[in-house]
Amino acid sequence: RAKSEGRNLYRFFEPGMDAVVQARRALEVDLEAALPRQEFDLHFQPIMNITSGEITGAEALMRWHSPGRGTVAPDDFIPVAEETGLIVPLGEWALRKACAEAASWPPGLRIAVNVSAVQLKSNGFARGVISALAFSGVPAGRLELEITETVLMDESKAVLKTLRQLRELGIRIALDDFGTGYSSLGYLRRFPVDKIKIDRSFIRDMGNRDTAAIVRTIIGLGAELGIVVTAEGVETEAQLDMLRDNGCVEAQGYLIGVPSKPADIQRLLESRATRSQTG
Ligand code: C2E
Ligand code: MG
Ligand code: MG
Ligand code: MG
Repeated sequence: RAKSEGRNLYRFFEPGMDAVVQARRALEVDLEAALPRQEFDLHFQPIMNITSGEITGAEALMRWHSPGRGTVAPDDFIPVAEETGLIVPLGEWALRKACAEAASWPPGLRIAVNVSAVQLKSNGFARGVISALAFSGVPAGRLELEITETVLMDESKAVLKTLRQLRELGIRIALDDFGTGYSSLGYLRRFPVDKIKIDRSFIRDMGNRDTAAIVRTIIGLGAELGIVVTAEGVETEAQLDMLRDNGCVEAQGYLIGVPSKPADIQRLLESRATRSQTG
């Protein structure tokens, strides 16, 4: 590996470059090459309606299988892809791939795709979304885009316009990792949002009285505003019971299902759909 790539890497490494900077640069180089080499794929994690127990859809989660590095977690490469701008073509790939997979799921199931701020602000984002839907044949009403509060932080008119445009098409907007940013409540007033996903750190600490109070408050807020609330990172029956008792609409987490390969999620979705039709 070092031998075959060594020549290329010399272009980027200058003597005296800090080891951390070099490692970072090497990651950027590998990441850049990974898209044409088809080293990315998507896993899908089911999302459940807590009241009915039915699976309502799944979230696409990116995976990078690097020949040299092994499987790299999104938290380790998405931020780099955002800084280099690679997230734009990479995100578009994810959107198209996710829609293509969802096209073969039982009708009515939703597909959720994460979208980063850089991507949403890039030129032609809405056009790319429309094209992914058209190409796959998935109806707009089945697509959900997950954004984080950082997307909304600069309050640009362009972002608001894009979100409105997408929503007019019937696409749903979910606010991911809710509660981890700041002034979350202000965003709910200013931006069109259909769903909030309570960050898994709150679900994990629900045994704590104060955290439990916060979770209940978010659920109540969602109910008042007519926004669906999804709990992320549900790992135990106790957590699910508490969420159900407090009227939380949806749950996602290892208890319900881990992120799985396309063929496995399709099997799961089909078995759940069959069960709800017969039962
Ligand atoms: P996220 O969108 O909040 O996704 C949820 C993360 O929590 C996923 O991590 C998932 O595997 C993990 N998770 C789900 N259930 C549980 C649970 O019960 N317990 C625990 N401990 N973890 C759980 P993952 O796949 O490593 O993704 C991390 C983040 O990377 C995502 O957070 C999302 O922000 C970002 N990401 C993933 N795929 C994409 C993508 O295609 N585009 C963009 N822009 N970001 C992505
Ligand atoms: Mg997400
Ligand atoms: Mg999240
Ligand atoms: Mg996250």
